[in-house]
Amino acid sequence: MIALVGATLIDGTGRPPGEAPTVIVDGNRVTSVGLARTTTVPPGATVIPARDKFLTPGLVDMHVHVHTPDRWHPELFLAAGVTTVLDLGGQLRDVAGYRAVVESGARPGPRILFTGPMLEEGEMYPGFAGFCRRFDATRTEAEVEVEHLNVFGQLAPEGFWLAEPAKLNPFEYGGWLWRWLGDLDPSSDAVRRLYDGLIDAGTALDPTLVLYAARPGAIGDDVGDASMDDPESTRLLPLLPPRVAKELVTRWSERRGAARGASEPAKHRMRRAWDNILALVGGFQRAGGMVLAGTDCPNVAIVSGFSLHRELELLVRAGLSPMEAIVAATRRPAERLGKRDVFGTIAPGRAADLLLLAADPLADIRNIRRIERVIAGGIVHEPGKLLEGLRSG
Ligand SMILES: [Zn+2]
Repeated sequence: MIALVGATLIDGTGRPPGEAPTVIVDGNRVTSVGLARTTTVPPGATVIPARDKFLTPGLVDMHVHVHTPDRWHPELFLAAGVTTVLDLGGQLRDVAGYRAVVESGARPGPRILFTGPMLEEGEMYPGFAGFCRRFDATRTEAEVEVEHLNVFGQLAPEGFWLAEPAKLNPFEYGGWLWRWLGDLDPSSDAVRRLYDGLIDAGTALDPTLVLYAARPGAIGDDVGDASMDDPESTRLLPLLPPRVAKELVTRWSERRGAARGASEPAKHRMRRAWDNILALVGGFQRAGGMVLAGTDCPNVAIVSGFSLHRELELLVRAGLSPMEAIVAATRRPAERLGKRDVFGTIAPGRAADLLLLAADPLADIRNIRRIERVIAGGIVHEPGKLLEGLRSG
């Protein structure tokens, strides 16, 4: 049994923190959340003094890919405070296997939820062949969740319309968006109608901003605290598994190389597009839409776990409050996945998935990085030790 005493509680619901509580964890569940001054700590409980610290639910990354075994580092997620991930398109057998490993306790890792393979109506992009299958579009289920920003493709101005969008692979489609997004008016009626349509259909938006930030980042634009994935400045690099670190360095030098060749007008267009991307995501939230936090790790140098911190920072840049950004990575994903009684908030009966932070993420969302302890399924981890284990293991 564990008792966390006296932290400021940011419980994931979105309500402002109240008086300091004592949170009791028994096994893998939170069993009680009461005022510290009136709650008796059960005898035998391990007390974690948490005064001047901040307690949040474990974070959820709504867009990850569990790839081949040599690219699967469950400890990275936990070290970054990500206690639940949603895999969007992996080999079911592999993903189920990883989940079994984590559930057995053989390796520390996040709770793994998955959707199964990606469905492709047209020709499959070869790079995705490992986790993609052809399907008949007439059997598409009604309930979908919008990933990335591709949904904004329907706002393309005349002259940019695509005769056959399905013919573009995902990277070409992204490149096409960048060509005209800068010319869009994010407050136009067309944008408003798109928001309304998405909201009426109950569609959530998981923009994976961290994926788009790489382009302006490569031309030197300020795209949030890039220290986590910029090998020139990250303190994380020496702590990462060597293969992950190497990929990061290689990818960033490729990007910088590509950016060096860009003309001034092209850079200007990219900056305007990036401003509009942020404006579109912020506008969707303000219109009443459901924004979720996801990263698409370990895609193109997006470090598992840690990239979610920057995603939250970018959501705040897009106009969400720090509290809304935290809710986008806690309660909302749980609700979206039909698991609101299981995780995503701190309350009696919920999973004991908790982060103890040294500084207030509501004052500055970047404080979400200042993780002292990660509690996952009731087990207490120190981020530094998890990373150490990954490097030496
Ligand atoms: Zn993805």
